[in-house]
Amino acid sequence: MHLDPFELHRPTSLEATVRLARELSGKFDYLAGGTDLLPNYKMHINLKPHVIALTGVPELQGHTLTRLGAMERLVALEDDPGFLAAYPGVAEALREIATPLVRASGTVGGNLLLETRCFFFNQSYFWRESLGFCLKADGDKCHVVPQKERCYATFSGDLAPALLVLGAEVELAGPSGLRRIPLGDLYDAGGDGIHRLTLAPGELLVAVHLPPEAAGVSARYRKLRVRPSFDFPELGVAVAGRFAGDRVSTLRVAVGGVETHPRPFDELTEPLVGSVLSDDRIRALGEAIERAVRPVHNTFLLPDYRRRMVGVYVRRALSDVRGGSAG
Ligand SMILES: Cc1cc2nc3c(=O)[nH]c(=O)nc-3n(C[C@H](O)[C@H](O)[C@H](O)COP(=O)(O)OP(=O)(O)OC[C@H]3O[C@@H](n4cnc5c(N)ncnc54)[C@H](O)[C@@H]3O)c2cc1C
Ligand code: SF4
Repeated sequence: MHLDPFELHRPTSLEATVRLARELSGKFDYLAGGTDLLPNYKMHINLKPHVIALTGVPELQGHTLTRLGAMERLVALEDDPGFLAAYPGVAEALREIATPLVRASGTVGGNLLLETRCFFFNQSYFWRESLGFCLKADGDKCHVVPQKERCYATFSGDLAPALLVLGAEVELAGPSGLRRIPLGDLYDAGGDGIHRLTLAPGELLVAVHLPPEAAGVSARYRKLRVRPSFDFPELGVAVAGRFAGDRVSTLRVAVGGVETHPRPFDELTEPLVGSVLSDDRIRALGEAIERAVRPVHNTFLLPDYRRRMVGVYVRRALSDVRGGSAG
């Protein structure tokens, strides 16, 4: 596998980046750590003639407890004991992303904007060609759910669910200026594995903002993968909650690695505010989320198994967050 030539641009300010993005409209990709984009380029997947490297853009760098620059390396968060202690769920998600080597290059922004994945997509050009390609690259049909309209590729980033349940927001920059939206709204719940983001053309992620009250909240991230040493999630469950005595003050659950976007379940957790999070309620919530998720057969493990494990992982994570056992 080799990289085809492309023109590399290295802007040194946010303003210059946005200007360049306007000029190269539709003909470029942003490059952060490159651990997702460049392997895809090597497999000749959706190549662009221009690449805009974000390494030299100062506005995207660094982190504090409440602001994570899009270009901050995952390892920098992992090496910050104060950050890990403040956000235990994010700490668990971080440690389970790929390998230390990948985390040394991979960034916060790249992880949140990871290309969706599918067994029929993350393959070499010749492999994909032998099947006549697919909707997501070079073809016009889907091999997972045979039809020609919708792609079911899975969102497989680990950070998004863990940040989403903490109420994170994202700061975006584009031709129309800066804007800030809830992290969950970055993903298009009504889209598919191809049209998966709500970013405007040329828009880029500048930073993630965490609300001050997110630090110290009881949180967990539980991930199922085939090889615990470095695989993408077959599912990832994030839970965060606050309790007044044994009653729920806030509770959020989000599931990644199963559908085309990380999916929050606020409609199921909000009615529990004020209630005791009993074993029965944990069981019922796990079952409701298990019934709601829609995995398809595009990863290693069978969809029915993944769906059932979502229920198990939700129950376990809720019980950890509450501080008891509900199996
Ligand atoms: C062997 C291996 C195992 C992996 N396992 C996991 C895993 O278990 N969990 C997991 O979550 N990931 C995994 N990954 C994927 C990837 O390495 C990480 O998600 C990483 O955090 C991606 O960050 P990056 O900076 O390298 O992204 P890049 O590859 O640079 O970019 C990824 C995408 O985001 C876009 N992008 C990046 N930054 C911005 C920005 N600021 N604004 C707009 N668009 C942007 C790029 O254009 C590209 O489309 C794995 C990768 C490898 C190679
Ligand atoms: S879900 Fe279908 S269209 Fe999407 S990447 Fe897989 S095979 Fe291609």
